[in-house]
Amino acid sequence: MARRIILANPRGFCAGVDRAIQTVDTILKASHGPRPDGLPPVYVRRQIVHNRHVVEQLAARGAVFVEELDEIPDEAAAAGIPVVFSAHGVSPAVQREADRRALAVVDATCPLVGKVHREVLRFVREGYEIVYIGHDGHDEAVGVVGESPEHVHLIEHAADVDKLEFTPDTKLVLLTQTTLSVDETADVIAALQRRFPWIELPPSSDICYATSNRQEAVKLVAQQADCMVVVGSANSSNSVRLMEVANEALGARGEAHRVDDAAEMDPAWFDGVDTVGVSSGASVPDELVAGVVERLRGLGFSEVDTVETIRENMHFVLPKELRAQR
Ligand code: SF4
Repeated sequence: MARRIILANPRGFCAGVDRAIQTVDTILKASHGPRPDGLPPVYVRRQIVHNRHVVEQLAARGAVFVEELDEIPDEAAAAGIPVVFSAHGVSPAVQREADRRALAVVDATCPLVGKVHREVLRFVREGYEIVYIGHDGHDEAVGVVGESPEHVHLIEHAADVDKLEFTPDTKLVLLTQTTLSVDETADVIAALQRRFPWIELPPSSDICYATSNRQEAVKLVAQQADCMVVVGSANSSNSVRLMEVANEALGARGEAHRVDDAAEMDPAWFDGVDTVGVSSGASVPDELVAGVVERLRGLGFSEVDTVETIRENMHFVLPKELRAQR
């Protein structure tokens, strides 16, 4: 029997990542080569999306990535060099700093992350305490918690629920990071509801369409495979979750491996494997998946099939500052 690759669909770029990359790309294209003052055409705060290859490619075209706004010189602010905020969003403190320095901000925060920020503000206005399930230190979580640090209580796992203390007269609502595992969140929500039965759930889940769709597809593929390769960077929350979902679906039959690209694959993973499933996180260009498929072909996986769970047609318009430039 021929060795087989099963590609999960949907995989790879989501609408928020596509929009964020297009944002930087549009600015770079409009910049027409190096500036006489030696300043770069664009600054990007943090990784525009959590993928090493994407960041390296944009940096090679002139984008300068900074961790914090204080790395941007005053001359750049005076010259109106655009500063892009990444897809993961920023806290109000960062926005205030940008305003204070009159930086020309182009906000590429994914609209679905922006929705969670607005929910925080609304619930705080209405007197709620917010339990937020997210990853401590992740850019998205930092931005959301930063909207109201005294009222947003970050937890990661079901075990963290025990650390929370609220009395029944406290209005309590749950919000979540957009890129968590649907199944894992269910466990945490169950623990929260046991301890705080009056906690309210948001009208619709904050876990975004792209995260849910990729997890559904990876689960189906892993159920038919002996091993999975998930393409995505280690700091990409949704890629790491995909690997965990794949591992659960594989069970004792095999293991899921996360790689940044084909070069990180170890041929020993595929000893005795007939069917390998392949997927990729929402920040991963499909050329990296193509590289993985090519390497697997070289290892004797000659058949390639696709399992598609849903066809996505989501699209977000560019940030308002750029719409005139397209
Ligand atoms: S994974 Fe979801 S929330 Fe994150 S950028 Fe993509 S669409 Fe937006």
